[in-house]
Amino acid sequence: MLQPTPNATTTTTIIDPAKMPHDGSPSAGAMKPVVLANYIAGARTAPAAGTPTMPVTTPHSGAVIAHVPLSSASDVRQAVEAAAAAFPAWSARTVKDRVQIVLRYHHLVASKYADELADLIVKEHGKTKAEALAEVAKGNETVEYACALPELVSGRIQEVSRGVLCQDRRVPLGVVATIVPFNFPFMVPHWTLPIALALGNTVVLKPSEKVPLTMTRAAEIWAEAGLPAGVLNLVHGTAETVMALVDAPQVQVVTFVGTSRVAEIVHQRACALNKRVLALGGAKNHLVAVPDCNVTMAAQDIVNSFCGCSGQRCMAASVLLVVGDQPALIDAVVAKARALTEREVGPVIDAASVARIRGYIDDAEKAPGVKVLLDGREWTQRLAPGTFVGPTILLHTNPADRALHDEIFGPVLSILQVPDLATAITIENANPYGNAACIYTSSGHVAEQCAARFQAGMVGVNIGVPVPREPFSFGGWGASRFGDLDITGEGAVELFTHKKKVTSKWTVPAERSWLN
Ligand code: NAD
Repeated sequence: MLQPTPNATTTTTIIDPAKMPHDGSPSAGAMKPVVLANYIAGARTAPAAGTPTMPVTTPHSGAVIAHVPLSSASDVRQAVEAAAAAFPAWSARTVKDRVQIVLRYHHLVASKYADELADLIVKEHGKTKAEALAEVAKGNETVEYACALPELVSGRIQEVSRGVLCQDRRVPLGVVATIVPFNFPFMVPHWTLPIALALGNTVVLKPSEKVPLTMTRAAEIWAEAGLPAGVLNLVHGTAETVMALVDAPQVQVVTFVGTSRVAEIVHQRACALNKRVLALGGAKNHLVAVPDCNVTMAAQDIVNSFCGCSGQRCMAASVLLVVGDQPALIDAVVAKARALTEREVGPVIDAASVARIRGYIDDAEKAPGVKVLLDGREWTQRLAPGTFVGPTILLHTNPADRALHDEIFGPVLSILQVPDLATAITIENANPYGNAACIYTSSGHVAEQCAARFQAGMVGVNIGVPVPREPFSFGGWGASRFGDLDITGEGAVELFTHKKKVTSKWTVPAERSWLN
C-alpha cells in the first residue's frame, strides 16, 4: 500500500484538518484525500521528495480520507534539530511563565476547539461523538494538572551541616520523543505533552499513522496558545520513523504507548543508548464478580467496559471471572450487550482489526466447551464497507483457551466461571499483563482483599474502567509497562526532569566567628 508522495516538495496538498468534513458518516469519506505534512519549527513541512505515503481510512466506510507520509531519518533529523534548537530559550523561562501558555491551551481546547477535535477523532478513529468529546476532556485534564506544576515542583532545601545548604533543582532533560497508539488520538499524546513542555523540555511527537489528523490540528492550537516554534514538532510515519527518533542523539527521553511487543523493542533500544524511557504496553484486564454484587449495576458497568470504544481501550475488560453460579448476572450482561447498536459501539479501526477479532471468535466457536452467547460477526457483513464487529460474549470452560489470554482489542468478553474468589485472584495474577483489574461486590472486606491482592497497577471496585484521574498517575505493571516512573502525575515530574543537587556554603569562618 505504500506510494511515493506525488511531487512532495512542490505540489503536495497540505491538509487543513479544520476544513475537512468530519461528521463520521460514510459520505464524509468521499472527499478528495490530501497528503499530510509534518509540523516542524512551527510550520507545516512537506517530507523529503519521494517519501512514501500510506492511506488513512475512516472506519465508518473504509474510504481513504488522507495520505500520511512515512517520514525518513532525514525528516526525523530535521524535527529533532528544531526541537534541540528551541530548547535553550524554552528551558530558560520560568515554569510559571511556561505554564501561562499551557493555561491558554487548556482554555482554547475547552472553550473553542473541543467539538472540532472530537469531530476529527470520530472521523479518523471511528468512536462515537460522546466518547470523542470525553476523550478531549480527559486529555485536557492532564493539561489542567500541568498548570499546577509551579505549585508542585518546588525543590527541597536543608542546612545539612552548619552553614552548608543542600538543595534540589529540577532541570528539564532536553528533547522528548513521544510515540503514541491509535486508540486515543488526543488523550494519549496529552499524557506526555503538557507535563513535558511545562517542565521545560521540547518535544517531537510521532502520532499513530492510523489517526494522524487530530494531533496535526492540535499542534496548531498549541501554536495559537503561544507555544514558540520548535518547542513541539510532529513527524508522521511508522516503525522506521520511530527507530530514527529513538536513535537521534539529541533525544534524551522516550515515551511510548502501544502494544507490548513494540513497547519492549523501543524500551530495549532506548536503554541500550542510555536514554530515559517509559514504554507502556498492552493489557488483558480481568473483572471478578462475586455473588453479592449488585447485578444491575455490575452488568451495565461490565458492558460499558468491554464495548466502550468498541473494546479498543487498554483499560477495557476482556475477561469476566464469575465466582460461583450467577446466571442472572450473565443473562443481564448478554441482554445489555445485545441491545447495543452500531451507533453506540462504533467500528473498529480497520479491516485488519476485524480479521484479527473475528479470528478469535472463529477459533473459540470451534474449541470444545466454548458457547458463543452473543455473536458480533453479523455486524461485519451488514455494515460493510465500514469495519465493524458487534459485541461478542464467549462462555469458556477451559482456562487455557486462547481468547482468555491474548489481547484481542475489540468488543469481545470471555467469561469463565470459577468456584471461589481465591481461584479468581490466582487466575488474575497469573496474567502476564498488569494493567487493570476490577472486583464487583457489595462487601468492603472482599473489595479490600482484592485491592490488596490483585497484581495490577490500576484496580477498580465496582468500576470496570478504573482510570485514575489527575493527580493520580496512570500506568500498569508487568508486561503492560517497560521502564520505571509514570507518564502522568508525580512520576511524570521525575520522568521529565533531572534532579540537580546544589550544595553551597557562603559563610566564611572569620565572618562566622564575628557574627557569633
Ligand atoms: P502499536 O504498537 O501497533 O503502535 C503504537 C505506535 O508504535 C504507533 O505510533 C506505531 O506507528 C508504532 N510502531 C508500530 N510498529 C512498530 C515497530 N515495529 N517499531 C517501532 N514502532 C512501531 O499499537 P496500536 O495498535 O497503535 O495501539 C493499540 C495498543 O496500545 C494496544 O495494545 C493497547 O493496549 C495499547 N495501549 C496501551 C496503553 C497503556 O497505557 N498501557 C494505552 C493505550 C493503548
